[in-house]
Amino acid sequence: MNNSGKSLSIKDYIMMGLSLIERSLFSKLALLQALFMASTLFQLAGIASIAPFIAIITTPSLIQTNELLKWSYDYFQFESNNQYFVAFAIFAATTILISNTITALSIWFSIRFSVRVGANLQTRLYSNYVLSPYVFFAQQNSSKLISNITQEIPRFIYMVVQQALNFVAQTLTAVFIIGSLFYVNITLAVAAIGLIGTIYVTIYLFTKKQITIHGQAIENLNQQKLKLLNESLHGIKEIKLIHAESWYSKTLGKLALKTLNSASFIELAGELPRYIVETVIFCAILGLAIFMLTSSMTDANPIAVLSFYAMAGYKLLPAIQGIYKSTSTLKAHSVVIPSIYRKLNETNNSRKQGSAELKADLPPLDPFSDIVFKNVKYIYPGSKTHAINDLSLQIKPMAVNAFVGASGAGKSTAADLLLGLLEPSSGSIEIGGQALEDKHMYIWQRKIGYVPQSIFLTDESIRQNIAFGIPREEIDDKKITDAIRLAQLNKVIDALPDGIDTKVGERGTKFSGGQIQRIGIARALYNNPDIIIFDEATSALDSVTELEIMNSIKEISSSKTIVIVAHRLSSIIAADNIILFDGGVVEKQGTYEYLFKHSSKFQTIVNASQGNSKPNKSHIEDIGVK
Ligand code: ADP
Ligand code: MG
Repeated sequence: MNNSGKSLSIKDYIMMGLSLIERSLFSKLALLQALFMASTLFQLAGIASIAPFIAIITTPSLIQTNELLKWSYDYFQFESNNQYFVAFAIFAATTILISNTITALSIWFSIRFSVRVGANLQTRLYSNYVLSPYVFFAQQNSSKLISNITQEIPRFIYMVVQQALNFVAQTLTAVFIIGSLFYVNITLAVAAIGLIGTIYVTIYLFTKKQITIHGQAIENLNQQKLKLLNESLHGIKEIKLIHAESWYSKTLGKLALKTLNSASFIELAGELPRYIVETVIFCAILGLAIFMLTSSMTDANPIAVLSFYAMAGYKLLPAIQGIYKSTSTLKAHSVVIPSIYRKLNETNNSRKQGSAELKADLPPLDPFSDIVFKNVKYIYPGSKTHAINDLSLQIKPMAVNAFVGASGAGKSTAADLLLGLLEPSSGSIEIGGQALEDKHMYIWQRKIGYVPQSIFLTDESIRQNIAFGIPREEIDDKKITDAIRLAQLNKVIDALPDGIDTKVGERGTKFSGGQIQRIGIARALYNNPDIIIFDEATSALDSVTELEIMNSIKEISSSKTIVIVAHRLSSIIAADNIILFDGGVVEKQGTYEYLFKHSSKFQTIVNASQGNSKPNKSHIEDIGVK
């Protein structure tokens, strides 16, 4: 993006930035501009009221000689000069009070506005991500996605939206004050603006390039930092064993320093010029005072004039400083605009899964009819070779089907295609003669229970992990009990102090691999699906538990279609239909006996597992597989 960002004009940035703001917030944006305007006008009135006040207290005769003052004196029927002074002071104070109240309000509104924009963007980007096809996640680093939501969007809000609003507000203020300076004395106004402008422009030109570089570095640094944190906390066991803790700490330290360096450079570059300008302006006002008092230009009241300039400077300087600061901050951080814009749009065109419109009533696909892969091909994005190449196979309903084959043969890819997580590049998957399409996915996926090789557990109770994604009050205890029984979890749960309400710990750290697998199996069984797909799901189990689970699976297969992906023979020996994968195609399909007789590859697999705990089928039958 850093490259594409270069060719964008300021207009492009503004249009893109505006397009990130939700339509319904535009009226709030308009209201904000009106508030800024009102705040500016009142500030101006506040400033303008100071000079006449000073003038009348130093030269009370003005009240009778100045037309406007005399008119107001008569109109409100004041009885003494002192009364008039007090009234004037109250008037000036009220103006200042109103002006500051409106300014405070506009700041409050602008913060609320940007927070709304941010929350909306975070929600939109997150929905876009989770609704993206599964394959999108296979190509992305999750830390980057997290960083985009948790770091880049807040950066857009605080460093772009708020700065842009501030820029507008301060520019309004500055323009009006400068206008009034011109009205009072053109020469002085030109001199003052020229002086302040030159200082700021010079500093800006000197720091511009560095600011941009630091701004661009931040996104990358944030992502790297999150990636490192993520990886190291996940891999803490290995890190401890190879004693890589200090390397990780050092690397994190370097990244943190770099990020903060960049951020502080941008901050300082925006902040420091104020002190130079304030010094210069202070000297200039002193100079002006001496000049006015010593020179012969007497018709103006020097104290009144000076107090006007001091007051104007007091309001103008922060405004100009604000303009400068937001300009340089915007310069540094506006890289996030095209970056977020692209991220919001890059996932938009692709197939969305699980979205509500797919819920539409559709003729239900009958999961109890044959599932047939017809010449299915699949190539992973960015990959050169097909993971699945012309795959044709048949999955038998209400039976145990097994995908076997060497690792990398395409078994998991075939399972993901069946799950509808991946879409065939060509060919089709047919259920009872009806091709599986996008529009079927919502209903189709609800009929499937899936047990992956590595089970994802949330740090909740076992009950909530089994009834995954179901609100606590809607959990059905009968379904939980059934799922626990079939997954052979009874003994594990009985041994726990809090039973089914025991928390599993982050990612299930409190449980063994086999126990986690069984929670995963119970989860897949909870919704009483018609089809259950186990992807190497029993590989972490000991042979006795595996056998018990295979028996339960066999038990439920009279009413369900089972697909077991396995490389271990023990888990497929009781299958009714074995599909042998080889390099993305089916080498042979049939019963154990058929394959053993007709496939030399299958014989090799069987022979390779001789000497393991389950060397052949007759042995398995001895120890109890039905
Ligand atoms: P199996 O489950 O039989 O071990 P897979 O279906 O996981 O095999 O993989 C089949 C082929 O697809 C392998 O060559 C693997 O390298 C490739 N593959 C798997 N996942 C991806 C991915 N996300 N991106 C690119 N290639 C992949
Ligand atoms: Mg696999």
